[in-house]
Amino acid sequence: MPDRANGEKDEKRKQTIAEVRREQARREKSYRERALKLFPWVCGRCGREFSGKNLRLLTVHHKDHNHDNNPPDGSNWELLCVYCHDNEHSRYLDAEWTDGSAPGDKKNAPSTYKAFSGLDALLKDKKE
Ligand SMILES: [Zn+2]
Ligand SMILES: [Zn+2]
Repeated sequence: MPDRANGEKDEKRKQTIAEVRREQARREKSYRERALKLFPWVCGRCGREFSGKNLRLLTVHHKDHNHDNNPPDGSNWELLCVYCHDNEHSRYLDAEWTDGSAPGDKKNAPSTYKAFSGLDALLKDKKE
């Protein structure tokens, strides 16, 4: 039955997503633990020290922003507190948004599309 086959496919997809998420969580946990063994528990930006309970506020930043790049010597990692980590990433986004005309183009695209689809509807009405 087609319905049953679709249901099974859905189930499989859900399982795959769950597996990928588990794998991601496991990997994140393992590189964080490795980074915490390698480096002193100090934020690389503000110099705040961490221990015990507030250690969970200390996060691993990937210098090249690629979470799959985890060399064993830790050369792509930097320990940052959540605040500095946030800051680091918003700075990265800012740089993306200020260079070139890409954001303007993106903004124009949907309205152009809408205009054309409206025109399309008008033409159809005339034909009928
Ligand atoms: Zn910090
Ligand atoms: Zn980061």
